[in-house]
Amino acid sequence: MRETGTGRGLTYAQVEALVRAQAGRLVDAGIEPGDRVALRLPTAVDFVVAIFGALRAGAVVVPLSPQAPAPEFEKLLAHSGAKVVITRDTEETLPDGVTGLTPESDPDGPVEFVDDGRAGAGEDIAVVSYTSGTTGPPRGVMLSHRALLANLEQLSGVEGVLTHDDRVLITIPLFHVYGLGPGLLQAVSVGATAILSERFEAQRTLDDCAEHGVTTITGVPTMYSEFAALGTEELRGKLATVRRMTSGAAPLHPKVLGALREATGVDVYEGYGLTECAPVVTSTLVTGYPKPGSVGRPLPGVELRLVDSDGTDQAVPLDPDDVDDVFEADGETGLVSIRGANLFSGYWPDGGHGPDDEGWFRTGDVGYLDVDGDLHLVDRANDLIIVNGFNVFPTEVEAVITELPEVAEAAVVGVVDERSGEAVKAFVVPAAGASLSEQQVVDHCAAHLAGYKVPHAVEFAESLPHSATGKLRRVRLR
Ligand code: ATP
Repeated sequence: MRETGTGRGLTYAQVEALVRAQAGRLVDAGIEPGDRVALRLPTAVDFVVAIFGALRAGAVVVPLSPQAPAPEFEKLLAHSGAKVVITRDTEETLPDGVTGLTPESDPDGPVEFVDDGRAGAGEDIAVVSYTSGTTGPPRGVMLSHRALLANLEQLSGVEGVLTHDDRVLITIPLFHVYGLGPGLLQAVSVGATAILSERFEAQRTLDDCAEHGVTTITGVPTMYSEFAALGTEELRGKLATVRRMTSGAAPLHPKVLGALREATGVDVYEGYGLTECAPVVTSTLVTGYPKPGSVGRPLPGVELRLVDSDGTDQAVPLDPDDVDDVFEADGETGLVSIRGANLFSGYWPDGGHGPDDEGWFRTGDVGYLDVDGDLHLVDRANDLIIVNGFNVFPTEVEAVITELPEVAEAAVVGVVDERSGEAVKAFVVPAAGASLSEQQVVDHCAAHLAGYKVPHAVEFAESLPHSATGKLRRVRLR
């Protein structure tokens, strides 16, 4: 395990010693099995020591954003009922009854950990992971040891996954389940070398890849777009040791996939996941070929169905072993539903709204399966715009707008319209140095889309609001 900023490097044995010391300090602070311990730490060795230390002490870990402003942090802290926060910031004032501890850095710390089998297993909750809050207030998702381990097992059934010899770059936040599961836990489960970087900064991160001989990158689309902007020569030189890149959490633009492949000869494999699924559901790694616009097929052991919005008519049951059967069913859009051992145990604190009696969890995502059996996400059901009774999927309009070379990024939302109920409004970020008019955007859409999908208003912006994992926050734009 190595930190890019400090150069600090530790063997697994050294990490284990720190983990035990951390567990000892937590037990000393009064932590009992099932108590919540919050982490407010960046992507660094400190996080790794804190999470495994807390799990060893039998605690339920609540990873929170180190960047979140105090009121947001305090709200989630109170909601989780955490008794202890592991944080680097010793100055931070914590609510009454909450103890602050610094991450353990001394393997021979003052308290010895006596391992009396306190650590949880199976259905015990390991982590309460808050969702990104893209569509509403963040929700605390209860993930059991069983769910997290199941997802690692499901990932391990895919070709070309991580091995002990890999050097994995992780610069996405570890407090989000994408960085935690397919990032950190997957690397640790195979004993790979994790190269941990607190902050993504395209040029510096590329230099880190070259310096540390990175072989795989677990990233998000915004990272890859910023890499792509640095140009072919730079990418080819700096990513020479990389054999695999994965992207998830938000849609990867086909332009970016193409640019990276052209520069490096390496593909970016896109996956789809949710906090509630611990988190990976599908990946293009399952077929072994990336397909622009698709998030691939379910991992072995994960079942996927598309259902009607009322959940009654299960339109396209997908048996992962018999994909050919499915397409006779239909290729229409439906709500993505998931079943598997990786599913969550309901929302914190009461465990409500978990999988249904048959074990299915209905996501808020709308998608369809193409003729090969690959999943395409259309949009979130909540983002759907209804113009005169016709459905408009924002991503379809956004994809058309970003075809314009003058456009760096676009976002589309529904706004109230007296005549049509809702109308389409576009926010457009022009490419560096490009000039573009509202009329150009509208004309281009009118040439490629049905009339009701064409934006009624276009607003130019310098940037668009994104979450820590690069998700577009349409709620903010609305
Ligand atoms: P909240 O539930 O609080 O609104 P959230 O849904 O963003 O937040 P997360 O669990 O962080 O919570 O994100 C899961 C969502 O991210 C999925 O439901 C899906 O909409 C989106 N997503 C994940 N991977 C992809 C992908 N490859 N392409 C498009 N969207 C994706």
